[in-house]
Amino acid sequence: MRKPFVAGNWKMNTDSRSSVELAKGVVDGSVKLAGRDVDVAVCPPFVYLQAVARAVSSSSVAVGAQDVYYGVKGAFTGEISASMLKDTGCTYALCGHSERRHVIGETDELINKKVAAAIGGGLLPILCVGELQSEREAGQTEEVVTRHIKKGLAGLSAEKASAVTVAYEPVWAIGTGLTATPEQAQEAHEFIRGLLAEIYDGRLADEIRILYGGSVKADNAADLMGRADIDGVLVGGASLKVDDFVAIIEAAA
Ligand code: PEP
Repeated sequence: MRKPFVAGNWKMNTDSRSSVELAKGVVDGSVKLAGRDVDVAVCPPFVYLQAVARAVSSSSVAVGAQDVYYGVKGAFTGEISASMLKDTGCTYALCGHSERRHVIGETDELINKKVAAAIGGGLLPILCVGELQSEREAGQTEEVVTRHIKKGLAGLSAEKASAVTVAYEPVWAIGTGLTATPEQAQEAHEFIRGLLAEIYDGRLADEIRILYGGSVKADNAADLMGRADIDGVLVGGASLKVDDFVAIIEAAA
């Protein structure tokens, strides 16, 4: 049985005060869910990780980074390694978020190195995959997702891959207010699980959590997470408002 997982991606938002306030709000809002079976994580900007990790330290809310670099240490100006993130209190790291693929220009090969480095450094990577609107319209959704998954997990043993959470995030639904229908999302998730079974085995495919991301809100979260292969959600905009994010956690619990 896969435990539901709700992660909030704060992107390049908040400041030193509001990041801690938001984190504390999520902790307070989650208290009443104590004992309910749901994993919760927040992913603040790098510079607020330590303060947020401190703010959630007495709770079950985990902290994730929005990115990670694959180098272990040394001359990589501006980059942050997995061990630094771990040291700062991170449990998770997003890898290959669509904004990093399509705005920053990250390739599948680079993302694969980041996934491997995250695992090597003791973090749990959340590998983000998903098609552009033009790719969906051209009937290429499965082809794109297959490439993102196969290249993103290339060279990882089943044991290492078991540390990974996949987030299916159709790019056309991220930050646009357009959400994939629960049927569209379930179809993609089922396809991804089948792919994982093909690459590894049925048992691993059954264990790996696959989150949906793309304009998730309190009012569509339950319907999405009610589908067989949707194990939780990766939330952008709605994770910046305590009440909205807590309502999504409640829907998962
Ligand atoms: C995201 O940042 O991963 C995301 C899904 O954003 P939003 O919920 O705002 O669409």
